[in-house]
Parts: sequence; structure tokens; C-alpha cells
Amino acid sequence: MPDELAVVNHWIDGEEFVGSSGRTAPVYDPARGIQTKNVVLANADEIDRAVASAKAAFPGWRDTSMARRQQILFSFRELLASRKAELADILTSEHGKVLSDAAGEITRGLEVVEFATGFPHLIKGDYSENVSTGVDVYSTRQPLGVVGVISPFNFPAMVPLWFFPIAIAAGNTVVLKPSEKDPSAANWMAELFTEAGLPDGVLNVLHGDKQAVDGLLEHPDVKSISFVGSTPIAKYIYETAARNGKRVQALGGAKNHMLVLPDADLDLTADAAVNAGFGSAGERCMAISVVVAVEPVADALIEKITQRMAGLTVGDGRRNCDMGPLVTEVHRDKVSSYIEVAIEDGATVVVDGRDIEVDGEADGFWLGPTLIDAVPTTSKVYLDEIFGPVLSIVRVKSYEEGVALINNGAYGNGTAIFTNDGGAARRFQNEVEVGMIGINVPIPVPVAYYSFGGFKDSIFGDTKAYGPDGFHFFTRQKAITSRWLDPSHGGINLGFPQN
Ligand code: NAD
Repeated sequence: MPDELAVVNHWIDGEEFVGSSGRTAPVYDPARGIQTKNVVLANADEIDRAVASAKAAFPGWRDTSMARRQQILFSFRELLASRKAELADILTSEHGKVLSDAAGEITRGLEVVEFATGFPHLIKGDYSENVSTGVDVYSTRQPLGVVGVISPFNFPAMVPLWFFPIAIAAGNTVVLKPSEKDPSAANWMAELFTEAGLPDGVLNVLHGDKQAVDGLLEHPDVKSISFVGSTPIAKYIYETAARNGKRVQALGGAKNHMLVLPDADLDLTADAAVNAGFGSAGERCMAISVVVAVEPVADALIEKITQRMAGLTVGDGRRNCDMGPLVTEVHRDKVSSYIEVAIEDGATVVVDGRDIEVDGEADGFWLGPTLIDAVPTTSKVYLDEIFGPVLSIVRVKSYEEGVALINNGAYGNGTAIFTNDGGAARRFQNEVEVGMIGINVPIPVPVAYYSFGGFKDSIFGDTKAYGPDGFHFFTRQKAITSRWLDPSHGGINLGFPQN
């Protein structure tokens, strides 16, 4: 009965804040297929409260010494590392991904916290002495104020961690609006940061749907928006936030291709295709969803991929399986419907993930790994971001045909080439119009000190997530021209100084 379920409330001003809108959304345990919680959905008053809390905390936090900010970040890093297993449990119970994958997500998020602890080096300004006689010019990077972060369901810990540690290190205060599908991780991290010594109001968690998002997009006190989610929403966020005068970075969806040349090591390639296609049930923006096989490699590769798929176990992420369920029943049904579309469009379903045996409750949101060969590039199976465990094979005749296919796609998030030819790999890295490239590496998510982001419909805005771009996004530069009076230099001169 929904009334008896636990409620996920907001986290505002350093404590749980009970939502009073009367509107909630269900949170499921995807492996059991049951609703376990309700999450509150913010109303206008709650949006204002979260932003007001962040606004009130800003002057004090901005003026907190770098040394103190660094100490708090280090404490947060230590707490997060030591209590990783607790957070992994939360991720698996609401998202469904297997525990080892949940732990991996947190590790990648921790890397950003570790990177953020070095922030004093990254927000240093420049200084030029005597640009004109007795005149110095220097620059400084300062925080923006209250910043908004809106995150997707597929990485409930890692994606928020791409942004809030950097924003906070740089002296901003944050309102985080996580996905309503798996909201608990955000509260857990905010509480942990408070335990690490973060002052109240520096990190707030506002739960909600479109109303909460629109509230942040419209709010005059919110200075920037960092968004990660599907492409249509990313585009809307970018346009609306920019129209309202905010700085905005909006990362969208993906359809990542793996180009396999005939000289590739096919065992390595098949391992990579299976790991990158079915890890986290394909619910990764850097998942491989299309293998582009340069003939005559396709038949041998499909055989090796199929052998490996036969060994995968699907089930409850708490039971040591390889792959968990999808996040919701609605999403599972949508992903599964693409298998029928593939058949109608004349593709060959090599492995059908419907009706698989699982190590879990019958009502879980299951769909097994699915492999589809000879997918027409006009089919929605090829064109749409399916975001599930469905791997397509497209056969091409040459390297050139493969690259042209990738470059004609709407998205440009990640891609990979598998080959033993260094010259071909080098050519690919130069010619392919994609932001993140793997060479014999299937999911090339850059480490925390490089920035993350794609091209085309995979990003709106020119600044990527984390790394140096992260600090650039969350600070703005002031250039200061200064002269301390020297009695020997004075007098009237209406022109620009020239010496
Ligand atoms: P989504 O776009 O449905 O939701 C993302 C966020 O937007 C959520 O917080 C949600 O509450 C909010 N939202 C949903 N509908 C909205 C609306 N109409 N108006 C305003 N806000 C709205 O995405 P999702 O299903 O949670 O996540 C999966 C998507 O995210 C995939 O497309 C995936 O590729 C993408 N993604 C991209 C990256 C990247 O770095 N490029 C990383 C992770 C996920």
C-alpha cells in the first residue's frame, strides 16, 4: 500500500525537509518489480526554499578559505570511500544494476571528488606586471553563486558527483535535482557531505519532476544549469536556461558505434562488445549499441559474441549476477518493443532476450541480452537510442563506409575502433566526429582530469563535464587593472596609455 511506504524527502539547509505538495512519484525495486518508496515532488514554495537556502549559504561559503574547503572535501572523500558499500546497496535497490557495477559507478564518482580536492591549482589567475608604466593587470576566477544540477536515472551517484564536488570546491552553492526514479543516493551523499563538515545550505537536494526543473530554469537566483539526460530534454533545458540568461551545459543521449576492422583481435573485440553492450543492462550513455563490422569479419565476430552471451547470468543485482533488470516496467517494455520492430524491418534476431531465465523474482523488470544482425540503417532500431541490452550489428564493406556511417549519425558521444593497425586507428581518431574515442577500449569515459562530453546531439553548450572544463564552467573570470600611485606619473592624457 503506497501509504505505508517510506518517503524520500528533500534535503534543504542541512536537514531532511518534508515535502508538502501532496504530489509524489513511485520508486521501485526493479529486481523485485515492486514499489518500495515514494519520492516527494517539489512545489513552487519548496523550489524557492531550496534556492533561498543555497543563496543564504553562498557568501559564507565563497569566503571560506581554500584550505578549509579543501579539508572538507578530503573528509567527504574519506567518508565516501569507506562507506561505498552502503551507497552501492542503495543504487542496486532503486536502479537495479548489479552491486559490482554500482561500486564501479561510485569509484568513478570518487575520482572526481579526488580531482576536485586540487581545486586551488585550477582556479588560479594570471598576473602581468607593468602592462603600462606602473600598471599591473591580473585575473581571478570567482564562483557563480547558486548553481542547479539536474541528473538522470542511469548514474544516480556518479553523474551528480561529476558536478557538485567541483561546483562546491570552486565556492558555489548547489541545488541538485536528481532523477525521481532513483532519488535516495542524492540524499545519502548530501547527508554524508554535511557529516564531513559542509555548512548547511551549500548542497541542497530538491526532488521533483518537470515542475521542479522548470522552477530552477526560471529562478532568477539560479546562475547556471548543468543537465544530463535524454536529447530532447537537454535541448529544451539548453534553450530555456540560455533564454533566461543562465550559463548552461546540457549533455544528451547517445548511440555509440564500435568499428571493427578485419585485422582486429576478435576475442578481445567480442569481450569488449559484450561488456560494453550489456553492462548495466545497456543503460549507459557510453554503452556500445551498434557494432559496425567491416567484412569479412561479421560472421566470425557474431559467433564469438553469441558464445559469450550464452554464459551471462541475468538476475537480482544482489545475487552476483552479470546483468540486472531494467529500471522500470515501462522502460523494459519500450526497450523490448524494439525487438519486434527489428523483425518487421527485416533484421535477424540472433539472440532474443525476451523469455529468459533469471535468478530473481518473476515480477522483476527483466529483459535479457539481445543481439540483432543485419540491422537496416533506416530502422528505428538503428536510429533511436534504445537504452537497453540490445546490441545491433551493421555490416559494411570498408573502413570508409564505417566512418561515414558513424559521422552521419545524430549523436556524437562515444565511439571505439578495434584494430591492430596503428595507422588506421590514428586516421580514425582524426576523422571521426565524436567527442570521446576508444582505441581497442570500448567505453572511453575520460578520467576525472580530462573532461567528459560528446559532439552534436549529445551535448548542448560548449563546456564539458568535470576536468578543467568543470572548473571553467563553475567560475567566471574578472580581469583587474591596477595602479598604485607613484608621484612621478600623473597628469592628464585622454588617450589610451601607450607606454
Ligand atoms: P531524462 O531526460 O528522462 O531525465 C533527466 C532529468 O530530466 C531527470 O532529472 C528528469 O526528472 C528530468 N526531466 C524529465 N522529463 C522532463 C521534462 N519534460 N522537462 C524537464 N525535465 C525533465 O533522462 P533519463 O531517462 O533519466 O536518463 C537517460 C538519458 O540520459 C539517456 O538518454 C542517456 O543517454 C542520457 N545520459 C547522457 C549522459 C551523457 O553524459 N551524455 C550521461 C548519462 C545519461
